[in-house]
Amino acid sequence: MRTQVGLHLNRCVLQGPIFAHNAWVPWLELFDCRIPFFHADRIRVDGTLYLRGLGTTSNTADSAVRLVGARIGRNLELDGACLDNPEGPALHAEGIHVGRALRFRHARATVSCDTGAVQLVNARVRGDLWLDGTTLTNGHGPVLNAEGLHVGGSLLLCSGFEAVAKSKELATIHLMSARVGSRLDLGVGRRFTGKSFGSEPEDPEDPEKRARRPAKIVNTDPSAVTLDLRCATVNELRIPPETVCRPVNGRCTSTSTVVLAELEYGRLSRESAHPYWPHWFSVHARPFEAQPYQHLAAVLRNTGRATEAREVLIALEDERHQTNESATRGSRIWHWVKKRFIGHGYRPGRALVGLAGVFVVALALTWAASSADVVHRSVPRVQNVSSAVVVEDLPDTDFPCRFADTIRLAADLSVPLISTGGRSRCDFKADGGWAMAATIAGLLLQILGWAFATLFVVGFTGVVRRF
Ligand SMILES: [Zn+2]
Repeated sequence: MRTQVGLHLNRCVLQGPIFAHNAWVPWLELFDCRIPFFHADRIRVDGTLYLRGLGTTSNTADSAVRLVGARIGRNLELDGACLDNPEGPALHAEGIHVGRALRFRHARATVSCDTGAVQLVNARVRGDLWLDGTTLTNGHGPVLNAEGLHVGGSLLLCSGFEAVAKSKELATIHLMSARVGSRLDLGVGRRFTGKSFGSEPEDPEDPEKRARRPAKIVNTDPSAVTLDLRCATVNELRIPPETVCRPVNGRCTSTSTVVLAELEYGRLSRESAHPYWPHWFSVHARPFEAQPYQHLAAVLRNTGRATEAREVLIALEDERHQTNESATRGSRIWHWVKKRFIGHGYRPGRALVGLAGVFVVALALTWAASSADVVHRSVPRVQNVSSAVVVEDLPDTDFPCRFADTIRLAADLSVPLISTGGRSRCDFKADGGWAMAATIAGLLLQILGWAFATLFVVGFTGVVRRF
């Protein structure tokens, strides 16, 4: 059926449902209407399809509003709609094409459907997709099933958006392989976007207060998977800590699980650049993957946050070690040394600090040894070839070392590969218990100096870095 004029219904109550499968209309507007259900698979609307304030009154396994394969030239709007359906989905729009925006703002739907309350699998929306302020509840499946969704603009699940599901298989918000050209917003929104359609469902909560709240996503099933962004691509990601977990005193405030493997994003919004990402990856994400850490580090580095990027990569090495069930005692010790002294290769400066510490200890040792009179000034061996007089093995003298020579001795003990000639001018005595102890301590400091120097070289050259 094709009509040359559109249809406008305002505040109508229809006893029967609307069927418009395969229809072709220039525009269709239903404002504040009550109908059993609206089914229009493959409908073609040149202009706008408004279902603002729509209330469906019948239970149907085929969805309260069904727009499978529909083509909408401009906006599709369901602002303020109330699509309760205990036997099936609220909105089934698989494969729909929307020329501009799809708005489902400040709406409400309580359903029981194992394939999703709102189904937008492989849907294409050229503009923004708005679900801000909407409350969706599904007692037997996910809330938003939008695998393969393409949104040219932003996907806005913000400003009081609430999704409560009981879903074992899919996440509450299932956005696997979705593409969002601009922003995926699970926060409080960015700007005042104007009032939506007037007949919003009654909400006991103050609307302004609710609009300042980030998305609330819950899965009451033991699987607790709330958000699945596997293989999704987003330009800007906006996920405040509350959406997944904001730990308090190191303790989780949520048991939700998220899937972030192969998720790619160009940048993070200000509220998304929080320090809880490693905690999310470690505790709330499943399964363990290195890619989320590495991608986050790359994004942070590209935005001039190199320090935070390094912390993320250090957290990755920690998590990699934690999840390695075949770790031996030796690998655990090596992991501890790497983390402690070179930050797994991302903080080689720590080894230099350690080397400086060894030098300070060596300085204290030589000073104490000098005070305890267990060092002495060595007498150089002299060979006077011209006079054929050779002076060797002159007896040790008890001349005290000069202060500058004790410093040189400390440097020679602690810093490898550099010789100041200190030991030829001042050295530990060969006899006596304290002299022996000082000699052994000096030997240990030499070993430590070599260890720190080697760790620095290993860290600086990036031999142990994996990314
Ligand atoms: Zn947590």
